[in-house]
Formats: sequence, structure tokens, C-alpha cells
Amino acid sequence: DGSVMRIANSPAVLAQHMQRTGGKVVTRFPPEPNGYLHIGHAKAMFVDFGMAVQYGGVCYLRYDDTNPEAEKQEYIDHIAEIVSWMGWSPWKVTYASQYFAQLHAYAVQLIKAGKAFVCHQSKAEIEESREQGLPSPWRERSIEENLRLFEDMRRGLYKEGEATLRMKMDHKNENPNMWDSVAYRIKYVQHPMAGDEWCIYPSYDFTHCLCDAIEDITHSLCTLEFESRRASYYWLLDVLDTYKPVVWEYSRLNITNTVLSKRKLNRLVTEDHVHGWDDPRLLTLAGLRRRGVAPASINAFCREIGITRNANVIPYHKLEHHVRLHLDVNSPRTLAVLRPLKVVLTNVPEQHSSTVQGATLPGRPESQAYDLPFSRVVYIEASDFRLQDSKDYYGLAPGKSAMLRYAYPITVTGYSTAADGSISEVAAEADLSFVAGGGKKPPKGVLNWVAQPAPGQDPERAEVRLYDVLFKSEAPDALGDAWLEDLNPDSLQVVQGAMVNPHLAATAKAFDRFQFERLGYFSVDPDSKPGQLVFNRTVTLKDSFKK
Ligand code: ATP
Ligand code: MG
Ligand code: MG
Repeated sequence: DGSVMRIANSPAVLAQHMQRTGGKVVTRFPPEPNGYLHIGHAKAMFVDFGMAVQYGGVCYLRYDDTNPEAEKQEYIDHIAEIVSWMGWSPWKVTYASQYFAQLHAYAVQLIKAGKAFVCHQSKAEIEESREQGLPSPWRERSIEENLRLFEDMRRGLYKEGEATLRMKMDHKNENPNMWDSVAYRIKYVQHPMAGDEWCIYPSYDFTHCLCDAIEDITHSLCTLEFESRRASYYWLLDVLDTYKPVVWEYSRLNITNTVLSKRKLNRLVTEDHVHGWDDPRLLTLAGLRRRGVAPASINAFCREIGITRNANVIPYHKLEHHVRLHLDVNSPRTLAVLRPLKVVLTNVPEQHSSTVQGATLPGRPESQAYDLPFSRVVYIEASDFRLQDSKDYYGLAPGKSAMLRYAYPITVTGYSTAADGSISEVAAEADLSFVAGGGKKPPKGVLNWVAQPAPGQDPERAEVRLYDVLFKSEAPDALGDAWLEDLNPDSLQVVQGAMVNPHLAATAKAFDRFQFERLGYFSVDPDSKPGQLVFNRTVTLKDSFKK
């Protein structure tokens, strides 16, 4: 991005980078392993890895693992996997925790410089005195005492909450991030990487800038909420006289009708409002993957929205647009029926069994033919039959004709109703003499259909999961504590008994993506078992959004 390079290309900064990295761009993507990554992280990766790629540099994947109570190996493993799924290759994988000894040494150095003190205020007391611009009563301890007490903290001589190490910054500064921030706190918690080696853990404010300096990060890119922390970032690096990365902030990505903070995602998952971190209704990367979205679509979306500093909530349909663009080019077509209505073709003999040819990518040179069984009993979409015909309706009605895609025109000759008045079966005649391009004009309406693969044998059934937005309002984050009440009760609709072609049933593997002609793009859910396919609708065929 232009503006960050403008800052970074100033002579003083360039000279520093030349000395540290030989002029190479070094960035980092620093997730905290306290949950699964979401589409906002895709933007962060696009910025961090993307910038390294653009300038021939390198990018670290650095786990910001300083809050052991919230962090898990499961998340660490997932992050590694999903970063690679997104197409990014970290230069090195590092952990803030691998620098714990070095960070501890820096803390000691800070105390020796008279710039840190051990404080015994409670969390609430710290907040209160900070608000009032008052110093901690422990602020003026001697360096010797602070060194001794910090060592006591490290040796586990205090209980949690009894002591913190605080930076001696500027408790009167107008920026709250300068009010003597906490550098170390006591936690008797097993760490996923460091085990029980430490009972004191460094804070974000202490850790992040120092890890950036240790790794010679040239461009430390982060989201705008960290802008106010620049002061403390550089304060610490100044006092410790380390190398100083260029910090640049960009806006956080928000998307309509969803939430992205890991804290909220965690509640949705643990309180069972959704079915796990990879629920296709979530905009976690695992959810998007399961829904059938390709990484290329996510990155194209990130490219389109750009790396700006404007606060923004991006409409969900902008993402869908890129999902469709990719799937249109890349996903093979097939025929399926979501809600089947039986049609008996009365002029086709009961024992008739033949095939017609479908095309995976109609009109394109790479298209392949596949077989569609054709027989006396076919199933069409229930919504493609009406008793009342009308001018702009191309489906079937009594006496009306429509084309079975890739096969023959059929004309309705009768129908029967169930006890509740619904249509239970349609009778029709097929024009078996019809040849595509043979001179006869086909009817305007073209229907998706699935036939009995053999006389009397039901087509392969599948479960299809249809999704709508997870939250009813565009900005659930704006609802404060009431955000959970805004959940859309109809965000998941499960359709049992959809019908698919035998060729699809035989070849589909988990995560495969297809277009069901006329119905949308669908991908195979990993819940599928042999003979029991489950599909997720990734996106409908057309954007229903009205401009
Ligand atoms: P969350 O509240 O979702 O947990 P976070 O910022 O605490 O977000 P981290 O795991 O610390 O999550 O984030 C790693 C990187 O991803 C950081 O640089 C962060 O700024 C960036 N990031 C997180 N959420 C977004 C977002 N919505 N848009 C852009 N970047 C994001
Ligand atoms: Mg974070
Ligand atoms: Mg967070």
C-alpha cells in the first residue's frame, strides 16, 4: 500500500532497514491462538503476507500466545492449517512464548533503567487510580526492591492478582495507553507451549513491540484499534534502545449481518447457537471452507475492498459476488432436485431405460459429458408445477410444456392431489422424437430433473442445507449486550430427500463444489457418508440484492 511505503521509504527508516535486513521487507501475521480465524484475519493475512510477496520480502506467522488461559493447541494447529489453505507460506513459524526468557531479561533491564515497578494494586484499584490520573502508591520503590520483588513474582511467591510489573510511563498523559501499563501479571496456568515453566506472563503491550523488534520486522501492520498504542509501542522500544519497526494501521473488516470478534464467535460456538467453529453460517475461514467458498474468492474480495483506514461494514453480497465469480468458472454443473415432485411420462414404456448426456461446463471447451439416466418416472422441482398458468411463468401447468434439461420436452396431461390438496403426482407425455438443434423449437422453460435410474428404483437421496444470514440486523455489534437476541432463527434450513444423479453420488468427495443447474452452487459437506450425501448451498446463482 502506498501510504505505508511512503513512511517506510523515508531515508532514516530505510537506513535502519538496510542495516537490519539488508533492505528486505519483513512482516508478520500475529494471531492469538484463542479461537479459529475469521474473514477479518484473511484481510490481515492479505495485508501481511501480501505485502511481503509484493516486495519480495518474507512474513512470519507468529503466535501471540501470552494469555494461556484462553489458548489451546487445537487453535494453534488449526491456524497453521488454515493459513496454508488460504495460500500463504510463512517464512518462519514463531511463538511469542519462545521469547519468554528474552522478554524477561528485557523486563529486568527495564527495572534497572528505573522504568518499571512492582505494584500491588488490585485490577479495580489500578483502573481507579489510572482514571484519576494518580500514580500507584508503589511507583517510587527502589530499583533493588523492584528487582527482588519481580524475582519473587517469577518464583511463585505471590498469589494471582497480588502483584504486577508495571511500566513507569506517564500516568498524566492524555493517552490512556501511557498510564503505567501492566507489563507482567501472575497466572498459575499451564501454557500450551511453555508448560509450567512460567507463572508470570507478559502483556500484549510489553510483548508485541519487543517481538517485532526481536524478529527485525520492518513493517508492523495492524488494525486501527492499535493506533493509540503506538505511543506505548515506541516508548518501550525507546527505553530499551532496540531496533524500531515502522507501525502502520489499517481498518478492521466488518461484514453485515454477522459478528467477527473471536470472543463473540466463541460464545456462539460454546453456547450451541451454531454447530462448531466451522459452521457454514459463520464467517470463520473454516466455516467458509465448509460452505464451499474457495480461498481465491476470499483473497479476491480482500483485494477489492482494499487496505484503507476508513471504518467500514462491507455488505455481505460483495463477498458473495466473488464467490460466484470463482464458482462460475470452476465448478462442474450437474442436475439435482431439492424438493421432488414425481412426473410419470405415460408414453414412455415402463421398462424403458436410457441415458442422455449432460455437460459439466456447457459451452466451454473443457466441458465433459456425463450420463443422466432417463426413464418413465422423473422428478422435477415441486415449485416448477402450478395449476394456474401465467404469462411470465415458464414452468409446467396443466396442458403446458417445458423442456427437461439435456433431454426432451414434456407436456402435462394430468395430475393427482393428496388428501391435503397438495399435488402428489403429475402425468405428462415426452416428445421422444425431439433432437437438440434438429429444427423443432423447444419450449421456453427448461427444468432440472432427476429420473429413476432403473424402473422402480428411487434416485439417490441427499440432505441439503440451505443458509441465510446468521443475524437479522445489519450491524449486530451495534446492539451491545442484546446482540445474541438478534440471531436469525431461520439461518439454517435442512432439506431432506433431495435427489441427485448417480454419477454425482458415485464421485462426490467432501468439499467438492458443484453447480446444481438452476439451483445454485453446492459443496459436499464432510458429514456425508457413502449413500448419504450432504450438501451445503454455498450461494444462490444470482445476486438477489437490489441496487
Ligand atoms: P478478535 O477480536 O477477532 O479476536 P484480534 O485482533 O484479537 O481479533 P488476533 O488473533 O490478535 O485477533 O489478530 C491477528 C491479526 O489479525 C491482528 O493483526 C489483527 O489486527 C488482525 N485482525 C483481527 N481481526 C481483524 C479484522 N476484523 N479485520 C482485519 N484485521 C483483523
Ligand atoms: Mg490480538
Ligand atoms: Mg481478540
